[in-house]
Amino acid sequence: MIDKTLVSLCESYMYKLCKEISERCVGSEGNRQATHFFAEELDALGWHTESHEFDAMDWQDGGASITAVGRSFQAFAGPYSLACEANAELVAISNIDELKKADIGDKNVLLHGDIAKEQLMPKNFVFYNPEEHQEIISLLEKGKPNAIISATSRNAALAGGVYPFPLIEDGDFDIPSVYMTEEEGEKLLSYVGQSVQVNSLSRRIPAKGYNVVAKKGRNPNERIVITAHIDSKKGTPGAIDNGTGVAILLLLAKLLSGYNGKRMLEIVAFNGEDYYAVPGQMLYLAQNQNHFDDIFLNINIDGAGYKHGNSAFSFFGLPEHVQKIAEELPRKFEGIVEGVQWVQGDHSIFIQGRRPAIAVSSEWFIENIDSQDITHTPKDKLDIVDCEKLVDISKALQYFIEKINT
Ligand SMILES: [Zn+2]
Repeated sequence: MIDKTLVSLCESYMYKLCKEISERCVGSEGNRQATHFFAEELDALGWHTESHEFDAMDWQDGGASITAVGRSFQAFAGPYSLACEANAELVAISNIDELKKADIGDKNVLLHGDIAKEQLMPKNFVFYNPEEHQEIISLLEKGKPNAIISATSRNAALAGGVYPFPLIEDGDFDIPSVYMTEEEGEKLLSYVGQSVQVNSLSRRIPAKGYNVVAKKGRNPNERIVITAHIDSKKGTPGAIDNGTGVAILLLLAKLLSGYNGKRMLEIVAFNGEDYYAVPGQMLYLAQNQNHFDDIFLNINIDGAGYKHGNSAFSFFGLPEHVQKIAEELPRKFEGIVEGVQWVQGDHSIFIQGRRPAIAVSSEWFIENIDSQDITHTPKDKLDIVDCEKLVDISKALQYFIEKINT
């Protein structure tokens, strides 16, 4: 039987996070409102709550334009990029070898074709960063062009369903960049060797962000760390990604407000999963570097509660007795299944640190993670969420946490 009070509480959390606040990208006012709201709720439920501050950067999109001999091209400002007004000769580069050989100093460089096939990982993103990406970034920095124009295709595995996608999305990278469609890039190619004007009016805004950490329980040497990222991508209400994760943390905090089990519970609103520098996760790692081994288990929630299909619990390296209890969940709770192994979430931070983890999501989210046309877009809004599923997940997690601690 579904608990109607919890469902309407859950709806109020989702409304607050995704409608009232609407955007929760790191560095924005909405992001700080969300962490403040989260901390207040946990405080009121009797958890020992702390907010940990870090520097972040918000960004204002002022638009971009490209002109060549009186002709103009449609372009977009690279997210978190510096502004520019760069009039210079156009060079075109389609692969790393060309980039190695070309003189791009003080020129405007058009990246197209193979070199622009996937979004480049941000410079300081340590969890996954292919050598090829690092090489492209360092060659560009050494080459010192005035501005970078990237023409990107629909092959947008790392950038959601956005077309064109920004090749560079990195506030730590200081060469101004703009991007355009493949078709516009084709047309611009005929201006190689000529003078091209690249303007971008975007603006970086120094700001602050917070992780919120709430604790309960006796033994800090054995912690169960329950996490969900509270930030959203710019331009989306972030309902599935990841308002639902935050709502589950809040429901769980309520369900476990009387918790007195043998292991310490730590509920963490991570701030930065969808942001170039993952600052909240980096801060948490730095704070925990000497006691990461105290973490008994991580439970991370991301992409849960899609309106159609099952909720998926994926298990990573669980100790045998914990695995046994985890395997009870699909039998005991309708609509919950064991999920496949997937890595694109904050649980991988714990797995990389050799800690056991459970990732909680929806089958739909995991299946669509590489071809998202909803997440990271304005379509990720309240109407794709089923709050009853969020309540079911919270109840299952409550059962699981209480059982492994008895
Ligand atoms: Zn997410």
